[in-house]
Amino acid sequence: GARNYSFMLRTKNPCGKVSNRLYLTMDDLADQFGIGTLRLTTRQTFQLHGVLKKDLKTVMSTLIKNMGSTLGACGDLNRNVLAPAAPFTRKDYQFAQHTAENIAALLTPQSGFYYDVWVDGEQVMTAEPPEVVKARNDNSHGTNFPESAEPIYGTQFLPRKFKIAVTVPTDNSVDILTNDIGVVVVTDDEGEPQGFNIYVGGGMGRTHRLETTFPRLGEPLGFVPKEDILYAVKAIVVTQREHGRRDDRNLFCGLHVDNGRIKGKMKTTLREIIEKYDLSVRLTPNQNIILCDIRNSWKRPITTALAQAGLLHPRYVDPLNLTAMACPAFPLCPLAITEAERGIPDILKRVRATFEKVGLKYSESVVIRITGCPNGCARPYMAELGLVGDGPNSYQIWLGGNPSQTSLARTFMNKVKLQDLEKVLEPLFYHWKRRRQSKESFGDFTTRMGFEKLQELVDKWEGPVLAPSRYNLK
Ligand code: SF4
Repeated sequence: GARNYSFMLRTKNPCGKVSNRLYLTMDDLADQFGIGTLRLTTRQTFQLHGVLKKDLKTVMSTLIKNMGSTLGACGDLNRNVLAPAAPFTRKDYQFAQHTAENIAALLTPQSGFYYDVWVDGEQVMTAEPPEVVKARNDNSHGTNFPESAEPIYGTQFLPRKFKIAVTVPTDNSVDILTNDIGVVVVTDDEGEPQGFNIYVGGGMGRTHRLETTFPRLGEPLGFVPKEDILYAVKAIVVTQREHGRRDDRNLFCGLHVDNGRIKGKMKTTLREIIEKYDLSVRLTPNQNIILCDIRNSWKRPITTALAQAGLLHPRYVDPLNLTAMACPAFPLCPLAITEAERGIPDILKRVRATFEKVGLKYSESVVIRITGCPNGCARPYMAELGLVGDGPNSYQIWLGGNPSQTSLARTFMNKVKLQDLEKVLEPLFYHWKRRRQSKESFGDFTTRMGFEKLQELVDKWEGPVLAPSRYNLK
């Protein structure tokens, strides 16, 4: 059955302001759908832990109905804006809180794309404001409504999460210098707010063992008159959007794995790298692996480690191996009739040697897939050359797939003994090399020639007519 995933919900409450109704709602939700506790965060918000997927819709709509929001509580945009929580009535405190609310409103995303919530294919909520939805749906005015560009966030949002706090002198309950932007109210002698001192560049985010990440204090940028504060904040956020580094995230590196079997030096090297840099990986449908989350500064040491293991050598992978696949077969699969994974390295070497013999270049390739029985786990029926075990040490030969796997192959020959492979492959490759149309792939060539003609070429084959050295001339 389907797993019931558990979620964490975080609210957004500028200045930490929570209405009575919202508090009671959160308390109820924690009992009904959470784990029975309410967690307050370092950014003046609630977190509700342990919400199950099936309850997400109810919880979110309850929250929204009760004047809460989760909009902007996470993601690469402005997070909850901090301000001193104490409800003092002094002018500067009130001004700080008011400013925090204005900044939060300024930096709330306008469109809901970023916040659409889908559960099992059903859109259960969108954070899109009703007037935006209306404008989008009501196209009768011919309005050129921007599809996804945000006035401040653009189409890409920010390179990272962004944090802002507002406070008054002598009250550092907000940890002002740890924020991307720290805003401090400046008053005149009568206590009347005049403007703000702005601090920028604070941040706590770092990664273990990565010296280019470190906690940093905000630094004074300058004074801004009170009427200009939103322009100043917007200018700083847009500067970060345009010039903040995006290149040190999301690098990734794909590595070929022969038949998906990670072993020997590759296994130890991957283990070392993945452990040391705390990387996540992705597995491809062709049994290869992608190392993810590589930061820019790790590129060099990771490249070095991979190179030392020989994994980056241009000839580490024969182009034939790059696209080849074999199923596990003997000794792992009880249905196996012939070898596949264990046999493919040798078969590919023999194909390579045949290529050389008939004068095909090293860079040429053919998609080869081998399985130990007709079940076809390595998808041999889409290959340009498919070998399917059909008896002791013998294979069916399938031809007619293409390099992009969009056509189905057909059986060309049955019961070809492993030791006789060259008797079939040599004439096929020889004539492909001589009769192909410009860059025609092997698969397209065999389809164009037709199996009858190919069979004739194989039956009549008595070995290459020319001495091997001459083949390279053509
Ligand atoms: Fe086993 Fe056949 Fe699948 Fe290979 S193709 S893994 S031999 S069932």
